[in-house]
Amino acid sequence: MKLFGKVTAMAMASMMMFSLAACGGDNAPASTSGTTEAAPEEAAPAEKEEAAAPEETAPEEAAPEETEEAAPEEAAAAGGNIGVCIYKFDDAFMTTYRNALQEILEGKGYTVTFMDGKNDQAEQNNQINNFIAQGVDALIINPVMTSAADQIIATVKDAGVPTVLINREPTADQMSAYDKLVYVGCDARQSGTMQGELILDTENKGDINGDGKISYIMIQGDPENVDAQYRTEYSVKALTDAGMEVEELDLQRGDWDRNRGQEIAQNALAKFGEDIEVVFCNNDDMAIGALQAIQAAGRTVNEDIYLVGVDALDAALNEVANGNMTGTVLNDANGQAAGAVEAMEALLGGKTYAAGEQSIYVDYVKVTPDNVADFQ
Ligand code: BGC
Repeated sequence: MKLFGKVTAMAMASMMMFSLAACGGDNAPASTSGTTEAAPEEAAPAEKEEAAAPEETAPEEAAPEETEEAAPEEAAAAGGNIGVCIYKFDDAFMTTYRNALQEILEGKGYTVTFMDGKNDQAEQNNQINNFIAQGVDALIINPVMTSAADQIIATVKDAGVPTVLINREPTADQMSAYDKLVYVGCDARQSGTMQGELILDTENKGDINGDGKISYIMIQGDPENVDAQYRTEYSVKALTDAGMEVEELDLQRGDWDRNRGQEIAQNALAKFGEDIEVVFCNNDDMAIGALQAIQAAGRTVNEDIYLVGVDALDAALNEVANGNMTGTVLNDANGQAAGAVEAMEALLGGKTYAAGEQSIYVDYVKVTPDNVADFQ
């Protein structure tokens, strides 16, 4: 995916622009040495293999040996210290997102430390507490459990640290507890609807065998992220809203994971065979896994089965271009990263957010063979 491509530029332009530079928060910046866990690779392609093996080395910039005597003004002038908590590094989409965040933040002169929550909320809570103890100027948090949002929000509020939540959206009510908190992400209903539209746009509207109904399997992400729930619901709703009859043959949790996507599709293909006309995957990594199973079963995407995902990972863009995926939906990691940094800078500049206005959304974009080149 092109960093700052055409689409990202559009998404960024549609967001409010803030010009305030980071100028330090209430907390004196402190050393991040000793907490840095793994450095995201420089704008590495979003391949699962790379996501699975984050380097255990610290980025040079992320471990300054500051002493107690270091003047806060000096550190702030260098851009300030930012703590970033990712729910787990071993997630293909969040690897792309993490790389984009690193590039933007470091490009602006911030000192950034990324922590891997390893899909463990207790571990992430410790990381947040450590960042607070070190006096970071701002936090960017991709929660492990959306259900832990109340606790996370109470913690950052207590510490008075400006915080941007990303990727896993809490409710507006939960966020209203703290006015120096904002969520930057996407409205997942839109991506679900677009997945349904990708199927409606095919020559037979997904009814390959002409029996009057679209028979599908649904491979779901981890429902801890509302994206999984909405994509599941709205992809099918787009079909029924268009007057199509649908038949759900199978629905299984693949937890955003490529191997799980492969296993689920393999089992479903063995059980339902030719009856499966559409494979909906809540994300691309699972769709790439499902594609392996589809090909192993001797089926051909866009001829006797349709396959759609979400994210526009590089691997999925290649498969859309090659005709091995019907389409995907851009989950704009670069646009969201830019939006998150912009919102963070607004918070650092003293902006507060009123209840009900704490979610900033970046648009999804449908990706088909017709426009895939724009994203590669
Ligand atoms: C992405 C998934 C990712 C998940 C992580 C979703 O928005 O589409 O690929 O695994 O976020 O929470």
